[in-house]
Amino acid sequence: MTHMHVAGSIHADTIAPGPHWLRMPEDVNALLPILWSTTVKRGDDGVLQVGGLPVTEIAERCGTPVYVLDEDDFHARARSFVEAFEGWDVYYAGKSFLTTAVAGWALADGLFVDCSTGGELAVALRGGVPGQRIGLHGNNKSEAEIEMALEAGVGRIIVDSFDEISRISRAAAERGARPRVMVRVTTGVEAHTHEYIATAHEDQKFGFSIASGQALEALRACESDPHMELIGIHSHIGSQIFETLGFEVAARRIMALHAQAAREFGRQLPEMDLGGGFGIAYTSTDRPESPATLAEALRAIVEEQARDLDVDVPRMSIEPGRAIVGPTTMALYRVGTVKQVVLDGGAARTYISVDGGMSDNIRPALYGAEYSATLASRSSAAAPRLSRIVGKHCEGGDILVRDEFMPADITPGDLVAVPGSGAYSRAMASNYNMVPRPPVVAVKDGRIHTLVRRETIDDLLGLDVGYDPAP
Ligand SMILES: *Cc1c(COP(=O)(O)O)cnc(C)c1O
Repeated sequence: MTHMHVAGSIHADTIAPGPHWLRMPEDVNALLPILWSTTVKRGDDGVLQVGGLPVTEIAERCGTPVYVLDEDDFHARARSFVEAFEGWDVYYAGKSFLTTAVAGWALADGLFVDCSTGGELAVALRGGVPGQRIGLHGNNKSEAEIEMALEAGVGRIIVDSFDEISRISRAAAERGARPRVMVRVTTGVEAHTHEYIATAHEDQKFGFSIASGQALEALRACESDPHMELIGIHSHIGSQIFETLGFEVAARRIMALHAQAAREFGRQLPEMDLGGGFGIAYTSTDRPESPATLAEALRAIVEEQARDLDVDVPRMSIEPGRAIVGPTTMALYRVGTVKQVVLDGGAARTYISVDGGMSDNIRPALYGAEYSATLASRSSAAAPRLSRIVGKHCEGGDILVRDEFMPADITPGDLVAVPGSGAYSRAMASNYNMVPRPPVVAVKDGRIHTLVRRETIDDLLGLDVGYDPAP
């Protein structure tokens, strides 16, 4: 495809068609509720509001880009999982987005917290989460991380390899500790999502495979080790999953393994975890299930399996990350340039460059994630025009929103909001091109509370120690 840059505006009937799923909106100012956190609305002046504040004021006070987290919405989503899954333990997947404040909120809302590294564990502990309400994940936990987990007395360590089982055993023996462990298994279920975020099929790095017999071997190794207490089986089938079928098949397979272990060990393992991965709406075509619907489906399958296999229902847990924090947060950017690009065949696409990009949201570049956007600093009477929202980085793949209809009069200085930016955006942010990472602010009842301040050039230079000729 050859791109030719042309000056001036292009007539509307030469707009590129866009992907098949994207419909031209009747009203380019309308907000689709499933995409946005609950306090988001457009004010009478056309300005987007969140937490009782116009985004223009947030941008003025905090600068752009900025992640804006709707605090009431976070609590509502967290509590709706806790309520829907009553009797089960809900672990907040801290890797999706974790700060000390967020860890404290999760705790206050009745959640446990999952960590995948020593760094996340440190944040959760600093946020006041007691060790016994924390689970430690990771396919390559270091000795230091295992030590840290034992020191903190974490409620469970999810083991992922035979090497790790020995490592934990040694560390626990030295301290006289007896950590509670779960065995992470792969069920052979391939979640209906992008390949790189589906984790339960066989050819990937996580877990012990049930089909190969390694899962049962790992259960035996933990069960017979005096330095650990085996509490159950863990399965996580992937991310951004919309169909409960994947969970059902996985649950069936791990319940069968659970029953097999019970026969062999002469006792039923007391717990079981079905993982996270519940999908959220990033675009108008995504249809996420409510926590209540998920809970009903998962409960039904586990109970049915327990009946069929003649075992008790273990104490169940799940690990949502994205479904709690994803929709709570919008990313707010300022438009810097607007460019018309003529594609082969003469159709046009508008490239809107904003002041952030792949350093604050790598997901579109990493695995083709789709997002939506809206003009946030005003409403517009102009026609919708197929646009691509891109960042400021030196990469052709630096795309934030591949396809979106934006008003044709969008112009430098306008603010653009991207919903669904709470999970895996700030968490995966980088300093590519030496761009400082944006702050995260919580908004509630018209007030702004900074959770993570904006990184500065001095922060970046602070890591650069130059070169010492006589170290
Ligand atoms: C990533 C992950 C989660 C959370 O996934 P979401 O898509 O954010 O819900 C839960 N459990 C495990 C083991 C994970 O790796």
